[in-house]
Amino acid sequence: MTVLVVAAHPDDEVLGCGGTIAKYVSEGVPVKVMFIADGVSSRSDSAANSALPARLEALEAASAILGYEVVFTGQFPDNRLDTVPLLEIVQLIERYISQLRPHTVITHHSGDLNIDHRLAHEAVVTACRPTPGHSVKNLLFFEVASSTEWRSPGDGHAFVPNYFVDISGCFLKKKQEALLAYTLEMREWPHPRSAKAIDALCHWRGATIGVDAAEAYILGRMLA
Ligand SMILES: [Zn+2]
Repeated sequence: MTVLVVAAHPDDEVLGCGGTIAKYVSEGVPVKVMFIADGVSSRSDSAANSALPARLEALEAASAILGYEVVFTGQFPDNRLDTVPLLEIVQLIERYISQLRPHTVITHHSGDLNIDHRLAHEAVVTACRPTPGHSVKNLLFFEVASSTEWRSPGDGHAFVPNYFVDISGCFLKKKQEALLAYTLEMREWPHPRSAKAIDALCHWRGATIGVDAAEAYILGRMLA
């Protein structure tokens, strides 16, 4: 069994499913992560040049904390994935799916404000078509604070989770540690991408299912 996480940017994997990754890894399930864009190239050239090494360093630290393997770090234009033919992104993901044969694929929710998140979702769903002989049994969509909840009402699908992973205790701690690695991407409270807000969200998702902390998903497909 292998889990593949397809994230638009480095930090989405921790915000969306960091505790779940740590939990899978603790159970001996290998978790591979691929990133479509670098998360910084939409900034001015000089800002992007100085931000990229720090972002990649943070990614390396986060992967060491959570125990996942980075299989691809994207060259596609950040925050401008809509300038790339969707087919190119689909084919890229298809290559990794046929090589890794993941049992579970986790990616973004379709209704996010961020255009890269929406297109990553679209590309993953296309790449995971259940054709004969395909490997993907479970398809899960995560939420990313400061994108999932910021889409205007009626302008996308609301995030109504129906699949939860209990990350109480050490898995929540690992997620918090990995978020510290991405400190440059984090903001001060009361921003939704602050440590306090992410913590509150995990506890709220936990409380909705009667545990201390959880990560919430929309189940896109499950084949039993
Ligand atoms: Zn993102």
